[in-house]
Amino acid sequence: MRYALYLFSFSIFLSACRPEPTEVSNINVDEAFEPYVNSFIQEGAKRGYDIDFSDTGLSIVFGNIVNASASCTEIAGHDSGSHQILVNKDAWHTLNDSLRERLIFHELGHCELNRVHRNDKFEDGSWKSIMRGDPLSEADEKLPIPYFGFRKDYYINELFEESVSLPDWADLKFEYDEIPASSKTPLIEAQGLPNIQDTIDFEIEDYELEIVLRTVSGEDITWVAWGTTEQHYFFWMQDTDFHFAANAAFQGPFHFVQHPDLDFRESQKITIRQVGPFCKIFLNETFFFIVDRLPADLFFIQSSMDNDIVIEEYRLSRID
Ligand SMILES: [Zn+2]
Repeated sequence: MRYALYLFSFSIFLSACRPEPTEVSNINVDEAFEPYVNSFIQEGAKRGYDIDFSDTGLSIVFGNIVNASASCTEIAGHDSGSHQILVNKDAWHTLNDSLRERLIFHELGHCELNRVHRNDKFEDGSWKSIMRGDPLSEADEKLPIPYFGFRKDYYINELFEESVSLPDWADLKFEYDEIPASSKTPLIEAQGLPNIQDTIDFEIEDYELEIVLRTVSGEDITWVAWGTTEQHYFFWMQDTDFHFAANAAFQGPFHFVQHPDLDFRESQKITIRQVGPFCKIFLNETFFFIVDRLPADLFFIQSSMDNDIVIEEYRLSRID
């Protein structure tokens, strides 16, 4: 039998090659990572993979890594080697549950599934794989993976089977004019506000929230959030950056755009439309992104406080 030494070093953000020989070991998984290893095994089983790491061993421990969240070092190949994963402790503590799972799945993708980085995108600009990684442009570094809601199952399918067919939502696009004005009943309308601080005390199933805004300094992070305290979406703006995210059980962030024509020091129109199973976001009447609808009633709409933001127009409408 011929033994070949394969050494790989992978990371989510930076691929720092560190060709350090490692020894084959058995299972040594820090308890912080156990739930994610268990769900990797379960997700593999759902897809016909019998994974127990007995053939390879598995080590996932906190370690010193510079400029990366984690790295995977491999000896003797993915099917007979030793999976040695190091996780940056500082980075780990900044991650929510969803991002932690994605990180461990990504590293196990390298060592157990023999995946390399894949950096192509869908029409809507979102990544095709949670195996996205270095080399990335500065803008792509900021673009998260929407490992989230109705997209998540696809990302796990793609992790185990790279050739998986495109998901139904891959090329979804929506027109701003798809909802006629006659279907919208304004419930709140205002102009020239220094901020938004509204609590919604009526039931509203499908709605459109439309805000024309600009930021004051353009430098500070400025935000608008809507939903309930437990589950809400928000976006934040800075210069020409627009980030879209979720909090609490939604475990964002999940989309980002940067464009010289989208300067938030000038008026920009943001439309949030929750209809049927989706929440659709439009920027200046152009479709931007789609996510799952908020599962609870709209409860609050808030923005950054005075001196950060100017709300030129603000309208909440019920959609019938
Ligand atoms: Zn990687």
